Amino acid sequence: MPANAAKSPMQKALDRLGLTRDIDRALHLPLRYEDETRITRLADAREGDHIQIEGTVVGCEVSLRPRRQLLVRLDDGSEVCTLRFFSFYPAQQKALAVGARIRARGEVKGGFLGWTMMHPVTRPATGDLPTALTPVYPTVAALPQAYLRKVVASGLSRAELSDTIPAAMAGRAGPQPLWSLRQALQFLHHPTPDVALATLEDHSHPAWQRLKAEELLAQQLSQLQSRRERALLRAPVLQPAHARPQALQWESADAGRGRVAVPSLHERLLSALPFALTAAQQRVVGEIAHDIAQPVPMHRLLQGDVGAGKTVVAALAAAICIEAGAQCALMAPTEILAQQHFGKLVGWLEPLGIQTAWLTGSQKTKQRRLMLALIESGEASLVVGTHAVIQDKVQFKQLALAIIDEQHRFGVAQRLALRQKMVHDDLQGQEPHLLMMTATPIPRTLAMSYYADLEVSTIDELPPGRTPIVTKLVNESRREEVVQRIRGQLALGRQVYWVCPLIEESEALDLTNATETHAQLSAALPGVMVGLLHSRMPQAEKQAVMALFTQGQMAVLVSTTVIEVGVDVPNASLMVIEHAERFGLSQLHQLRGRVGRGAAASACVLLYSTGEAPRLGETARARLKAMQETNDGFEIARRDLEIRGPGEFLGARQSGAAMLRFADLATDTQLLEWARQAAPVLLDQHPALAEKHVARWLGGKAEFLKA
Ligand code: ADP
Ligand code: MG
Repeated sequence: MPANAAKSPMQKALDRLGLTRDIDRALHLPLRYEDETRITRLADAREGDHIQIEGTVVGCEVSLRPRRQLLVRLDDGSEVCTLRFFSFYPAQQKALAVGARIRARGEVKGGFLGWTMMHPVTRPATGDLPTALTPVYPTVAALPQAYLRKVVASGLSRAELSDTIPAAMAGRAGPQPLWSLRQALQFLHHPTPDVALATLEDHSHPAWQRLKAEELLAQQLSQLQSRRERALLRAPVLQPAHARPQALQWESADAGRGRVAVPSLHERLLSALPFALTAAQQRVVGEIAHDIAQPVPMHRLLQGDVGAGKTVVAALAAAICIEAGAQCALMAPTEILAQQHFGKLVGWLEPLGIQTAWLTGSQKTKQRRLMLALIESGEASLVVGTHAVIQDKVQFKQLALAIIDEQHRFGVAQRLALRQKMVHDDLQGQEPHLLMMTATPIPRTLAMSYYADLEVSTIDELPPGRTPIVTKLVNESRREEVVQRIRGQLALGRQVYWVCPLIEESEALDLTNATETHAQLSAALPGVMVGLLHSRMPQAEKQAVMALFTQGQMAVLVSTTVIEVGVDVPNASLMVIEHAERFGLSQLHQLRGRVGRGAAASACVLLYSTGEAPRLGETARARLKAMQETNDGFEIARRDLEIRGPGEFLGARQSGAAMLRFADLATDTQLLEWARQAAPVLLDQHPALAEKHVARWLGGKAEFLKA
């Protein structure tokens, strides 16, 4: 069939599920199973059992009362059961004619009129009973279960499934040596009825262990490969001046009395800062400085809780880069954040003679052209902006360090574009160093073993002098008390954030919400400047509002979640989050991190509403409780992992695409450890098997895993 021939809806649905290759189909595992291997006698059945019965149809009629339905009476020799269908086709009615021998599967209910089954699955009682459980696959509407079963079965029989893990490597902690990949898949698609179903459900069955180990190994292999590929690439050596004796400038006037070195840019920045670095900041600056002084591109993830002070670390790295004569780009996920970084970095670096440029999507053409020229000529050594920085038209003279703030907020596609951009911009056969920053840390041990291709730096200490934020849960019905509390803070000269939730799929609703709250607060706080910020406002207006708040004229800022990432106004001491039950845990933590940035005692009020329900849902309650109990981002991350499961955590959050389908990082730590150790062995001793393994498991996805 020519590639461009129109695809049937079923083929399109298969594509959508990613079920194109035989191996992908073989790896499409059941959600659950149905047991069609036995027949239960009605005389032995209990109320509510899901069973399969077999018998002869002794009655078949359409009844019109109380509503139109097909009533079929099935006699299995022990008792009679009535099968009821409210919707049915003529063909079905024919197949269920009196005298037919059929099997029916469903839930039996007892009662006044004897046994009944509502809408059972029926089939003619021909042939032997199956010997394996029947798989039920995850699917979409366009793809009927029966068709999908055939597709998967044929994929399973055609796929090349020879083992890629040598038996000797499958140790006790690793995949069970008794189960080959083929056996494991065969079993998981068609388990024998004697299996303990619980071991299939919780994925503890040896066949599951085998698959999870395979998946983790593929992930580790691909990261290891990309780490090794990177080791072959060249990057500019970026060293602070004092580390390069040949570059030192000497003060000739003092020639007679011992010579004094002019301090490096990095040192001058350090001494110009209004604070001293924390030990953790010094350590991570050291780690970064060490990496970028190597001729190999750095790929480092800098994680640190909100407010830990990552920006200054970025500025110091930039200073080292700039002093070495190269350009540095800093990208932030939102304009507000980019704007703020720009302001801060300009404030720190321009007095030291550094020329900066600013790039965003909403910029006027004329200004943009000017900026592009500065970047291309190399006059601007620091470029700050949104992802506009990685757009096609931007040409750097020599980009040597790219810093991505709040990297998890950028989509996978944007991160891929950045990588490609960096290669594209390479002028001297070199790639820039890459520093990614994030405030939604994953537990360090997990990060280290999972991200085999990243170095991880962790700021595990907050700057001194911060008073911990007190978090209170308050029922929506006590809103007036919260307003009173705001008055208290305003009287002390403090500022207040009030965040309204993002209601998914309805930006319009969001807006009403924020607008209403804004009107309410303005009325309740006469004489106080209450601002409103939401994502639909024109950029210039957003900036104006943000500036008023940053400079302190505006006392209260009502906003949607646009302020979530990184905004820094140290005088703000109270954060109110409305409908806190609708937010995710790490999002709440990020929001809370907007206060407690100065020395003032700060508080976060989580206003929750139970809506119609008498109580909050279980996960919402767990999230709010976690917020109340801890301020520690790593602990929050751990709880988040617990509440949501790491599949979503690492998958959707960290990369924008689910990466682990089978393994669960919270519980499969042993398998992860096994995979981490097995990957280099396989790659070195059996490179062909390693290649086959990655291709089989990741197909076209390997590139994404590196991003
Ligand atoms: P984040 O890690 O969330 O990006 P920021 O870089 O925005 O945090 O820093 C939070 C605040 O702490 C800023 O106002 C910053 O200037 C300040 N800060 C950073 N490092 C220190 C330090 N060592 N001592 C005191 N204040 C600091
Ligand atoms: Mg930040």
